[in-house]
Amino acid sequence: MDIRAEKMGLDPEKLRQFLARQYESAAEPPAQPQTTGPTATGTPGAYREGYEFDLKPEQLIAYLDQYVIRQDEAKAILATKFCTHFNRLRLPPDEEEELVGNIKNNVLMIGPTGVGKTYLIKLIARRLGVPFVKADATKFSETGYVGGDVEDLVRELVREAGGDIEKAQYGVIYIDEIDKIAASRNSFGPDVSRSGVQRNLLKLMEETEVDLRSPHDIASQMESVLQIQRTGKAERRKINTRHILFVVSGAFSGLEEIIGRRLNRGQMGFHRPSQPQSEPAGDRLASQVRAEDLIEYGFESEFIGRLPVVAVLNELGWLDLLQILRNPKNSVILAKKRDFRAYGIDLQFADEALQLLARRAGEEHTGARALVSVIEKVLLHFERKLPSVDIKALTVSAGVVEDPAGSLQELLFHHSLQRFSEGFFQSHGIQLHFPPETLRELWQLALARKLLPEDLCRELLADYGHGLRLVEEREFTVGPAALLKPQETLNQLIKEFYSRRR
Ligand code: ADP
Repeated sequence: MDIRAEKMGLDPEKLRQFLARQYESAAEPPAQPQTTGPTATGTPGAYREGYEFDLKPEQLIAYLDQYVIRQDEAKAILATKFCTHFNRLRLPPDEEEELVGNIKNNVLMIGPTGVGKTYLIKLIARRLGVPFVKADATKFSETGYVGGDVEDLVRELVREAGGDIEKAQYGVIYIDEIDKIAASRNSFGPDVSRSGVQRNLLKLMEETEVDLRSPHDIASQMESVLQIQRTGKAERRKINTRHILFVVSGAFSGLEEIIGRRLNRGQMGFHRPSQPQSEPAGDRLASQVRAEDLIEYGFESEFIGRLPVVAVLNELGWLDLLQILRNPKNSVILAKKRDFRAYGIDLQFADEALQLLARRAGEEHTGARALVSVIEKVLLHFERKLPSVDIKALTVSAGVVEDPAGSLQELLFHHSLQRFSEGFFQSHGIQLHFPPETLRELWQLALARKLLPEDLCRELLADYGHGLRLVEEREFTVGPAALLKPQETLNQLIKEFYSRRR
């Protein structure tokens, strides 16, 4: 924005001041709230009319079960709280007004990377038909300033809703890596700014009105100046965040220790078992998280107070990853099939290949995210080569996963040979067979002479069409000798044929 102004030869600061003065003076007094049309703002209740949201938690869970493996507790919590949030909007407005200080069901998700946090929220937003945006909290802390950019998320929601402000007011904003804006106890990071980001988010998460025009965006400010010039007044369009649901998430490394310490403190003074208790697993510890732990982790208590719903997601083992791959609705496999279908190639996976891929992905410890990278690694060679040859189907076997480059060579070899056999049959009406020992020989010869098997066979077996017709063969098994001494082998064949006839 500023860069654009600079490119235009303008001093951004002066321009901003000028625009701010123009904008403020012309906009006073503030425009009266509009009463016509759905773009009238600041009154989210209006959307309730004709709003037919009536999904039940169990229906939403059943929907999620079709796509998401494990994470049953998180599914139950999220589905229930999202359903309640949206069903509550169907109540008459005055019932809600009575509840002063009513807290929204904003959600905190705790879990490592690639276990389905984003996937769950996306699926829920899709099922509910509400707009959804996602951003990383680090985006806000890194810039170091705590101006309006968290508000950009709300503006983005309007864009997601195709400019429909009313719809955006019932959207979902998802902020990942929220643990990175904890004012860490022993880090050297800019803690003032981190707490500042928390406070800014807090305002959004409660209720505030966000101007659709960003104060940092010179272009939109200029637009409003032009509008003022045209119409004599500034149209201020705002979006209210009262009903926008906020989901924040993070891996929260180190949180287990805080929880563990609290649990141990709680045990002091009580009778302790003589045998040392085994340490609870990280997942189990995280599920015992309390607000005080998150405050100790570095969050403001008001911020945590606006996140009444906590869902813990578990790490996925390789068997979970296998289940994900086996799920016919799995997006990783479906996306890859679609990529190949774009070239007219039918892609299939053998179950043994899925097992190998799941094991390999499990070793990377990045949850289901690793599935994409391990599959890409295996299939890249094929995706590059197959579209330019006439291969219309590929089955990924265990062998393909173990040695993709070798398997591709083999596939191209057999395909090339098949093309030769088909051409031979069409020209001469004779079916050729190649036993394994001939294939081995052909492979060596093709490698040595850097030729495709079809070109090599065309050269070596050039006289065989005519010769085999002479000996009235309908089928012929090409032995290694036919490749090594083609002419002598054919002559021998013809000689034997005529001697049998005599
Ligand atoms: P994160 O937890 O880091 O937000 P994502 O939800 O973005 O991870 O997961 C990345 C992808 O991995 C998803 O788009 C989905 O295809 C797959 N995935 C992750 N977790 C699961 C799960 N529990 N069940 C099925 N697929 C999953």
